[in-house]
Amino acid sequence: ATPTALMVGTGRGAKMGILIKNGEVLGAVNDVKTVVFDKTGTITVGQPQVTDIVGDEAQVLRIAASLEESSEHPLAAAILKRAQAAKISAQPVSGFRAIEGKGVAAQFDGHNGFVGNHKLLTDFKLDDKLAQQEIRLQNEAKTVVFVGLDERIIGLIAIQDVAKATSAEAIAKLKARGLKTVMLTGDNERVAQAIAQQVGIDEVIADVLPGDKADQVKAFQQTGKVAFVGDGINDAPALTMADVGIAMGSGTDIAIDAGGIVLVKNDLRDVDKALALSRKTFNRIK
Ligand code: ADP
Ligand code: MG
Repeated sequence: ATPTALMVGTGRGAKMGILIKNGEVLGAVNDVKTVVFDKTGTITVGQPQVTDIVGDEAQVLRIAASLEESSEHPLAAAILKRAQAAKISAQPVSGFRAIEGKGVAAQFDGHNGFVGNHKLLTDFKLDDKLAQQEIRLQNEAKTVVFVGLDERIIGLIAIQDVAKATSAEAIAKLKARGLKTVMLTGDNERVAQAIAQQVGIDEVIADVLPGDKADQVKAFQQTGKVAFVGDGINDAPALTMADVGIAMGSGTDIAIDAGGIVLVKNDLRDVDKALALSRKTFNRIK
């Protein structure tokens, strides 16, 4: 092994904004068969915006903003931003709970309030009109959350996070190399499919609970080595499980720590560049 080649490779990467933190990933790169991507913040910009509100807008926003104030989820940030723009202030709530992969709940004004997706609604029956709205909005690649008090759904909020301008080109490059591309997300199947279609992803696994992402990576490892690309706290176990963990530089510290490679420019086209550089560097040192 020639450490010089490794240094040259990592030095060249650093200049391109590709940090190879862990030389061990280099050995796996030649055998990567599948590249698995997180959706939010990785394929998409990660700054969701409220686009539609169904129901009494002021009431829906007041309840949703009050409940989401203690949440750190990107969807919560979108709702709070929209409430602020509409000059609607949050009211204090008690007993706030985040329900993983589903939403949030708290006591609002003496009622059991909630904001979340379909999975949170097991005790409710959606009326046909709201159910149709949900499907229509999801087909437009918008994430739908319902807002409710006690047994009543008072409205819904649609939130959109657009694909990064370079994501489609990045995916096409990897496919041209014969790699299989997969999107792994906690978001709804319809929304995930709509984004996947825009960027050309081969396969979608949606409605994945945060704790299950690493297991999904493991399943793909049955068919060859896997690279995982992600940015969130909940991506860290999958980044560690993957043969090549690639973290976005804009990601959370926990994701960056877990990644063997870091893409400083947050440009998904650098995944292909990172794989090519790693391959070249490895072939020189072996
Ligand atoms: P990902 O980061 O992969 O998109 P998450 O597991 O964070 O997935 O969230 C999955 C889904 O759970 C969201 O798309 C949304 O429907 C629901 N959800 C999670 N947190 C919240 C929240 N604070 N408010 C409303 N809905 C939420
Ligand atoms: Mg993410």
